[in-house]
Amino acid sequence: MSKLRSISRRVNSIRTLEGGGFPVRRPFPIQGQMQFDPFLLLDHFGPVEWEPGEAIGAPNHPHRGFQAVTYLLQGGNLHLDSHGGGGALGPGDVQWMTAGSGLIHSELPSDEILANGGVMEGFQLWVNLPQSHKLIPPEYQELKADKVPVHRFEKGLVKVIAGTAFGLTSPVKTVTPIGYLHLLLTPGGKAQLPVIEGHNAMIYLAHGQARLGEALISEGEMVAFGQKGDWVELINPGLDELSLLLLSGQPLNEPIYRHGPFVMNSPEEIAQAFEDYRSGKMGRIGS
Ligand code: FE
Repeated sequence: MSKLRSISRRVNSIRTLEGGGFPVRRPFPIQGQMQFDPFLLLDHFGPVEWEPGEAIGAPNHPHRGFQAVTYLLQGGNLHLDSHGGGGALGPGDVQWMTAGSGLIHSELPSDEILANGGVMEGFQLWVNLPQSHKLIPPEYQELKADKVPVHRFEKGLVKVIAGTAFGLTSPVKTVTPIGYLHLLLTPGGKAQLPVIEGHNAMIYLAHGQARLGEALISEGEMVAFGQKGDWVELINPGLDELSLLLLSGQPLNEPIYRHGPFVMNSPEEIAQAFEDYRSGKMGRIGS
């Protein structure tokens, strides 16, 4: 039977700098909300307007044990890694990168943005890998903007970046079941979004205002839901367009040990990751 999910927690994101020093809003990990199983991090970068020659990205850094998902709203990015993977992202593009056993990653603004400046905005989500899949080979899945399934209705639209909703299934293959929806809603609009019973689910409000039942949610807030129920309902009570992410997934319920860009299941595995990084086993970009 269909049941509306209730709010279990509200969290205000922090503002911080990431990579070489670009501004992000981060609902987690922060003190008191270190993860949201199976998700490890959500960064909303920008919107930031760079002057020519000033755009900043995240130069060479390692990763192991999870997937890094970039969804660009505005601007352009060029990603490269030590396994020869990577790709360019434009507005609306999604890149689902499996770091798995480990790599060196470079995430820089596109040459166009570097040279001429421009506005950059998007999201990076870290999806944890289950213990059995921590060390799978690195891999990229590209989902170009025009291939993202879109459900349109009178007052808005929903992009299905991962999982299934409204009879649409994203071509992205996930290791464990994940739902990643982007909702845009015009003022006065209402939307009902599906979530799978028993999966953890949260929304992150990127722009505008949202009302869930009696609760008024403001920009930069994350709202976590209880695990019971299979839909959430949102209203845009504001004067601007509402933009939010609904993230959901089957919880892994496994121990997490993380140190910066390595996320494993034990302190020994973290030590091993550092050792493999230092000894060059994660490779070098351009070699
Ligand atoms: Fe990275």
